[in-house]
Amino acid sequence: MSARSTGAGRFAPSPSGDLHIGNIRSGLLAYARARQTGRRFLWRIEDLDRVRAGAAESQLEVFAELGVTPDEPPLVQSTRLDAYAEAIRELEDQGLVYECYCSRRDIQQAPSAPHAPPGAYPGTCRSLTEGQRESRRERLASLGRRPALRLRAANRAVTVSDVLLGPVTAVVDDLVLRRGDGVFAYNLTVVVDDGASGIDEVVRGDDLAASAPRQAHLAQLLDLPVPGWVHVPLVLGTSGRRLAKRDGAVTYQQLRQHGWSPAEVFAWVGESLGLGARTGGRPWQHMEDMIESLDLERMSREPTVFRPPV
Ligand code: GLU
Repeated sequence: MSARSTGAGRFAPSPSGDLHIGNIRSGLLAYARARQTGRRFLWRIEDLDRVRAGAAESQLEVFAELGVTPDEPPLVQSTRLDAYAEAIRELEDQGLVYECYCSRRDIQQAPSAPHAPPGAYPGTCRSLTEGQRESRRERLASLGRRPALRLRAANRAVTVSDVLLGPVTAVVDDLVLRRGDGVFAYNLTVVVDDGASGIDEVVRGDDLAASAPRQAHLAQLLDLPVPGWVHVPLVLGTSGRRLAKRDGAVTYQQLRQHGWSPAEVFAWVGESLGLGARTGGRPWQHMEDMIESLDLERMSREPTVFRPPV
């Protein structure tokens, strides 16, 4: 494809368990696209939440068996807490951070703000006086809780451009930067880490497409370059819902137990994208076939159903 680039792509799975074939397909796409475009390929372990011991190592082993190894040691989010705290300080310096004392229930029950999309933060804690904050802080502390931190974003519509989806627009609400339990929020950590790693193109499942405008907005506020996006279609189970472990043999380990080889994984990935054998080529067998034949222009933009072997 294009000439060498100095940028990087990445795969950033949460180490909460074994990846299913849908997650694996997204990771293989991220790698093949990085190779096609001359980008470095990096791996990030998003371990601030929902961690299962051994899952991160096992995810890397699966990809190694499929011929994918990252170009640098993985970035581990739990080692980056100072960087996230620093980013919040930068936003604070711009007057863009406020404490939020709402519970999930408070948010659901509050009337929604004008022009805000459904589910957006209603703005309850955006404009409190210092006295009001003091008493709410005390009440939370008596319940053993701490306030969350939110970004002052004012429900602005932000549009980003996606290679597969075209323009993606979303209203950016006052998103959470640090949760009430002290955990730095996903949108913040992704932006800080992609920025620090020089990620200039993000390939991931299209369930996260609606987060891209929020992440672009945060990147701009933090003076980080906004990456390009390639949100790839999801893999569904036979129920028509997003593939999940309850659908049967869907992880690499389970498929191996059913006799699948790495070559069969690549053959299925090629077929599912409407490339590979279906369009007259050979079935894909290795990562090299994928790098050679992946064509974002021609690949299917529809979700695919995976029928687990029984
Ligand atoms: N850790 C996220 C997930 O596993 C992906 C984050 C991202 O690619 O931006 O769903």
